[in-house]
Amino acid sequence: MVVGDISTGTELLVIGGGPGGYAAAIRGGQLGLDVTLVEADAYGGTCLNEGCIPSKALIHASSLVHDVEHAESMGIDAHADVDLQQLVGWKDGIVDRLTGGVEKLCTANGVNLIEGRAEFVNEHTARVAHGGEGQGSESVEFEHAIVATGSRPIEIPGFEFDDRRILTSSDALSLETLPESLCVVGGGYIGMELSTAFAKLGADVTVVEALDDILPSYDDDVTRVVRGRAEELGIEFRFGEPAQGWTEADDGARVTTETEDGETNTHTAERVLVAVGREPAADTCNVEAVGLEPNQDGVLETDDATQTAVEGVHAVGDVAGEPMLAHTAYREGHVAAEVVAGEPARLDQQAIPAAVFTDPEIGTVGLDAETAEAEGFDPVVGEMPMQSSGRALTLGSETGFVRIVADAEAGFVLGARIVAPNASELIAEVGLAIEMGARLGDIAGTIHTHPTLSEAVAEAAANAQGAALHTLNR
Ligand code: FAD
Ligand code: NAD
Repeated sequence: MVVGDISTGTELLVIGGGPGGYAAAIRGGQLGLDVTLVEADAYGGTCLNEGCIPSKALIHASSLVHDVEHAESMGIDAHADVDLQQLVGWKDGIVDRLTGGVEKLCTANGVNLIEGRAEFVNEHTARVAHGGEGQGSESVEFEHAIVATGSRPIEIPGFEFDDRRILTSSDALSLETLPESLCVVGGGYIGMELSTAFAKLGADVTVVEALDDILPSYDDDVTRVVRGRAEELGIEFRFGEPAQGWTEADDGARVTTETEDGETNTHTAERVLVAVGREPAADTCNVEAVGLEPNQDGVLETDDATQTAVEGVHAVGDVAGEPMLAHTAYREGHVAAEVVAGEPARLDQQAIPAAVFTDPEIGTVGLDAETAEAEGFDPVVGEMPMQSSGRALTLGSETGFVRIVADAEAGFVLGARIVAPNASELIAEVGLAIEMGARLGDIAGTIHTHPTLSEAVAEAAANAQGAALHTLNR
């Protein structure tokens, strides 16, 4: 201990207050553990401060603007003026409410909160440096530790983030003025969600993507719907063109890409959003001091009890690798705290859902037909096009489909792909079906409220049984 340090002891030290860390801390508190949560920046982590929540606020507001301005066919002729500064202020208000809530929930569950950067000193001690000069530091002796330090955006050579021309997603979510033109490098989750939002707000958007399509891990017929709609919104795609570098020009940043034929293309834009993936932040708390070594991808590897290679040290959330999603971080944090408390908890999910908040949204869970077959199932597939859904038509959003996959013999539901308005919500029903071992008949035979989008899930299940009413059976 250095002179001037104060020293405290805790049963469970949690490093990082994002979804993984705060879930672990609250669950630990509920189970009667003596928990200390250390956060270097802002409670709620990436998700609440500069990820899920701010991006969904911007996406909602931009859709509102777009819907208002494109309602002529409903007899509505309106124009929306956008004050981006006020919009960002509204978004910040939501963030403040939620992050304040996290702090209150931690305190109410008996969690000791420390603001500062934690670093391991040895197997049972960490030092927390409080923010700012002369703020001091303290030592925390711990029995168990959970590393929940999250991730950060990958910076590619030639595109150093400067919050002026070259933006991270966090920068893009806090712009004070709408850029006239935006070049988005990467057509993955962030690239597609934010390019859609900025196009709806009226920016001229070009997406340059190294691969031949958007959203690399999604099926072709799913991405086709989203890409088609994005093109309708005026987004220009340049596929097979990895970004190489940029130079300052009179009219903005001139981004250079290399085509598949080895030629050079340029795309000029006022701002450039680089969204080429995120990397685990395993290097912020000196994990080596507890005997941990991140793998070659920078990930802290764990087992199904979230336990790392070092007894008593757990890792959860983005720092523990893919999928880097808030809902997996929550579950891992929950399990980690229960394991520390001596409960027989394990990560034993049958399926993890994912959603992309594009227009329309994508929701996926479980297996597609191809993977089901590869895993030894004899899959049966049922589909319901959204153009046959009365509710979708009343929402003016009829592109997309619900596809459900089940085991032909027993009818057990194995997975779904949904491209539709609110697909992020609709996918939950199929996730529950998989977890409960439900069969097609359980979904098809459940009375769904009319008129709702969820009827399309029931119709897809009925279609797999050859009994759908609102679409032709296969
Ligand atoms: P984080 O949320 O990154 O939190 C880690 C915390 O640890 C941070 O607050 C950091 O300050 C702190 N920390 C780091 N080192 C230290 C240290 N040494 N001492 C103390 N504190 C430290 N996921 C979804 O599921 N749905 C979405 O819609 C979605 N949208 C997203 C949109 C964007 C633009 C981005 C960037 C991400 C999005 N994600 C989404 C991903 C989601 O935000 C992450 O998966 C999630 O935040 C991971 O949680 P975590 O607790 O592992 O890490
Ligand atoms: P991503 O991995 O989803 O997509 C990155 C894209 O960039 C890929 O398509 C890749 O081919 C492309 N790329 C890489 N290098 C390139 C280059 N030099 N030039 C052009 N294209 C290039 O990454 P992301 O969009 O940054 O998102 C990061 C992570 O954040 C996601 O993987 C996800 O875990 C999380 N996230 C989730 C959600 C959600 O759940 N709705 C939303 C946003 C972010």
